[in-house]
Amino acid sequence: MSKIKLPKNPGETGWKEILPKRKVNHSLVDNINADYLIIGGGFAGLAAARRLNQIDKDAKIALLEACEVAEGPAGRNSGFMIDLPHNLASDDYLGTLEKDLEQTLINRSAIEFAKSASEEYQMPEEAIQHVGKTNAAATKKGMNFNTEYAKHLDKTSESYKILDSQEMKDLTGIDYYINGLWTPGTAMLQPALYIQSLADGVSKNSNVTIYENSPVIDLVDEGMHDGQKIWKAKTKLGSISSSKIILAVNGLVERFGYFENRLMTIFTYSSMTRKLTSEESNKLGGTREWSLTSADAMGSSVRRISGIGGDRVLIRNRWSYNPSMEASDTFMRSAGESHSSSFNARFPMLDKVSMEYCWGGRLCLSLNSVFAQGEVEEGVYSACCQNGLGTAKGTAIGVITAEKISGTISSLVPNFVDEEAPKKLMPKALMWASVNSYMRWKELMAGKEK
Ligand SMILES: Cc1cc2nc3c(=O)[nH]c(=O)nc-3n(C[C@H](O)[C@H](O)[C@H](O)COP(=O)(O)OP(=O)(O)OC[C@H]3O[C@@H](n4cnc5c(N)ncnc54)[C@H](O)[C@@H]3O)c2cc1C
Repeated sequence: MSKIKLPKNPGETGWKEILPKRKVNHSLVDNINADYLIIGGGFAGLAAARRLNQIDKDAKIALLEACEVAEGPAGRNSGFMIDLPHNLASDDYLGTLEKDLEQTLINRSAIEFAKSASEEYQMPEEAIQHVGKTNAAATKKGMNFNTEYAKHLDKTSESYKILDSQEMKDLTGIDYYINGLWTPGTAMLQPALYIQSLADGVSKNSNVTIYENSPVIDLVDEGMHDGQKIWKAKTKLGSISSSKIILAVNGLVERFGYFENRLMTIFTYSSMTRKLTSEESNKLGGTREWSLTSADAMGSSVRRISGIGGDRVLIRNRWSYNPSMEASDTFMRSAGESHSSSFNARFPMLDKVSMEYCWGGRLCLSLNSVFAQGEVEEGVYSACCQNGLGTAKGTAIGVITAEKISGTISSLVPNFVDEEAPKKLMPKALMWASVNSYMRWKELMAGKEK
C-alpha cells in the first residue's frame, strides 16, 4: 500500500514533446544501499546530485525520480532563470531592498552553476542561453510597474534598458506592447532540454545513478547502524537504504510528513502553438527568439522560440491554488481558452495558428517567501519550496543542501543565510477560498496584460 501519493502532471509539456526521444533510465528494481539518496529529479535534485559528485567523486549517489526526467514541473516551466528579484506575491515582483540584493546574489550563483554544467556536459546551445529578458507592458499601469522596477534597479546599480513601443515591435513583430524593460542577467532555458541534458550529463561516467519512473512510496526509519540512522526509501519494485537523504520534491515534501500546512501548491498553465510555417514567421516579423515576462505579475509570459522543435509561440497565464495538488480538467480547459484568447489578441496576423500543447504544473510558495529547507530529521534534508522561481532558487537550494549534508565548508552559493521556517497557513478551506478569490481578482485587474 502506497503511503506517499503522487499527483498527476496535467497535460503533456510541449517543451518535452517537441524534442527528439531520449533514452530513459531504467526504474529501480533492486534493494540497494547508497551513500546519498536524492528523491526528486528537478532543478533542486539534479543540482544536488552534481554538487555532491563534485564534492566526493567516490560517493555512491542515487536519485529516484517519480516520472521521466523533465515530465514534472522542471520540464513544464517557461524557462526564465531570472537573476533579479521575482517575488510572485507582490504586484511588481519586488521585496525589500536588502532581501532583493541577497536574492540576486543567490540567483546569480545558481545561473553560474547551470552555465558551468552546460559547458561541462556540452549541452545544445538552446538548453540555456544567457540573453536576458524583457518585462513587457501593454497598459499604462504595466508601464508604471516597469518605472518602479527601474527605480529599484537604479538603487541597486543594476543595468537595464527601457524599450519604447517601436522597439517592442521591432523585437516581437507585434503592436501589443507600449513599453519594455530589458535586463541582461536572465538565462533562458529550453527547460526540458536543459533538465534532460543535466540528468544525462550528471550520470554519465560518474557514481551518480538516476532511476526514472521510480516514485518513492514510503520512507521508513530502519534504526541505527554503526552510529548512524538508516532510512529506506521504498518504490514499488525496489528500495534504497542510506543514512543521508535529500528531499528535492518541492511542495510534495508535505506528503513525506514535513512542513505540513505551511506550503501552498499553486498551479500555473501554458500552451504552445504548432510549428509556424516560414510564411507565417515572415508575416509575424520581429526577431526569431524573444522572451517576455509581464510587467504585471498576473499577466502573461510570452516566448517566441525557434530551436530544435521549430518556430513556435508559448503563452503562460492563469493561476490556481490547489491544496489537493491536482488541477481540475475544468480549470485546464479554462486556462487553454485563456491562452488562445491572449494569443489571438497579440498575434492577429497568425489567425490560422492553433495551440498544439496545453499543460499545467505545480509550484510551491510559502507565506513568508522562504525555502522549506534544512535537516528535518537525522540525516534527512529538505531542499524544497522555491517560491515560483524554481529554475534559479531550486538550483541554489540543491547546491546548498548538498554542501550542508556533506559538511562542505566552501560554498558555491556564498550569500545564503538560513532563513526562518515557512509560516503556518490558515485552515485549508479558508486558504483555498481566500487565495483563489484573491488571484481571480488580480487576474481581472491585470486586464490587457493577461
Ligand atoms: C507553467 C509553469 C511555468 C513556470 N515558469 C517558471 C519560470 O519561467 N521560471 C522559474 O524559475 N520557474 C518557473 N516555474 C516554476 C518551476 O518550474 C518550479 O519552481 C521548479 O520546477 C521547482 O524545481 P524543484 O526541483 O524544486 O521541483 P520540481 O521541478 O517539482 O521537481 C521535483 C521532482 O520530484 C519528483 N517527485 C515528487 N515526489 C516524488 C516521489 N515521491 N518520488 C520520486 N520523485 C518524486 C517530481 O516528479 C518532480 O520531478 C514554472 C512552473 C510552471 C508549472
